[in-house]
Amino acid sequence: MTTNPTDKLREDALYYHAKGRPGKIEITPTKETANQRDLSLAYSPGVAEPCLAIAETPAKAYDYTAKGNLVAVISNGTAVLGLGNIGPVASKPVMEGKSLLFKLYADIDAFDIELDTTNVDEFVRTVKILEPTFGGVNLEDIAAPDCFIIEQRLKQELNIPVMHDDQHGTAITSAAALLNALELAGKKIEEIRLVVNGAGAAAISCMNLYVSLGVSPDNIIVFDKDGLLTKDRTNLAPNQYKYTTDRCPSNWTLADALQGADVFLGLSVGNVVTGDMVKTMADNPIVFAMANPNPEISYDIATAARPDIIMATGRSDFPNQVNNVLGFPYIFRGALDVRATEINEAMKLAAVRALADLAKKAVPESVSRSYGQEGLVFSRTYILPKPTDPRLLMTVAPAVAKAAMESGVAQQPINDWNDYDLQLSR
Ligand code: NAP
Ligand code: MG
Repeated sequence: MTTNPTDKLREDALYYHAKGRPGKIEITPTKETANQRDLSLAYSPGVAEPCLAIAETPAKAYDYTAKGNLVAVISNGTAVLGLGNIGPVASKPVMEGKSLLFKLYADIDAFDIELDTTNVDEFVRTVKILEPTFGGVNLEDIAAPDCFIIEQRLKQELNIPVMHDDQHGTAITSAAALLNALELAGKKIEEIRLVVNGAGAAAISCMNLYVSLGVSPDNIIVFDKDGLLTKDRTNLAPNQYKYTTDRCPSNWTLADALQGADVFLGLSVGNVVTGDMVKTMADNPIVFAMANPNPEISYDIATAARPDIIMATGRSDFPNQVNNVLGFPYIFRGALDVRATEINEAMKLAAVRALADLAKKAVPESVSRSYGQEGLVFSRTYILPKPTDPRLLMTVAPAVAKAAMESGVAQQPINDWNDYDLQLSR
């Protein structure tokens, strides 16, 4: 019997997760534990000393425990990847995977926490009382609109960085791609007409960040499952209502809106845009079709419709993948390294600019080769750095740390940037 590629992937993935010790992460001691003396330092009686020091000065937890390098990846499993509401325990492989990426790319120890609740108050309270353990909280795969409320409340109530990656990681990475695409297209961000399909967690956060970067809210037209977001819609959350319009007929379709548009942002569902629709967009159209696993329009159809297109998707098998791994490991690295109390707008914008600038620098041959593409160079098919680019850590983390310091949220500023670079490169 022959197996098709999907069966093979399924088998390989299950085997990968089950082999050896099940799962993808474990805890490793960081101190010597060779003899009784070491153990009496690690645990009783020696351990009482750091306990007392921290009891007197809580910030010493950063000196004597793993807190400062420990991030909680927290989900309730209500909006997992493209899988939907599969519940907390089924989301665990994804959250372990995220923890693995934190470690791999930024040497951050992350632990997954799956919460069996869909009650916002219970979720917030649970995370709040976990604060002593962690240096930061990465919220993950929580359905809208609860994700907005949960993140907003936790940001207010916690004194450590909290970020919902599905919102802001996507916004930061795609914003870097947008800046570079606009540069290649020769367009000014203040003037572009942006059409957005989807008004969920990712789309709203992207629009907020694009507006911070200069997009005029008056030039944005948004659609969700029920069609155009108009001022007279009554089924919208406040953060969606911001993006309603009364500047076009309320029966406008996506096809109507795309005529003459400069940028299409898709964070909705697959195959809702046609080649004919893309043909009506302005010169050098920018199409970010990011629904996973199937984009709003396939790469092949879109590029066949418009040779002058600049296209990005969420997929790794086409150019310009908007991959959140370009952001979250380094954003948290920078935030943790200055003991930032939050991840604010200035830090996000610094990450955007650092990512965008890195894509314009000469690409190391080793990076090009690892993608089987000789001589990657800033162009329509290379508007974002590749995830394996080792310069990401050295570029994005310091930019975020600096922005935290300049915006007054760093509790432990970095003074010697050369020394910090050296630390990062180790
Ligand atoms: P979400 O919060 O569930 O939002 C989905 C939005 O799409 C909702 O506003 C929904 O409308 C709208 N929608 C559904 N079907 C539609 C249709 N036929 N036409 C117009 N709008 C439609 O999900 P999300 O987290 O924002 O993610 C959205 C998509 O983007 C997913 O496919 C996700 O995998 C992808 N994504 C990709 C990346 C990446 O590539 N880096 C990152 C994040 C998300 P209603 O509000 O009316 O239900
Ligand atoms: Mg996610």
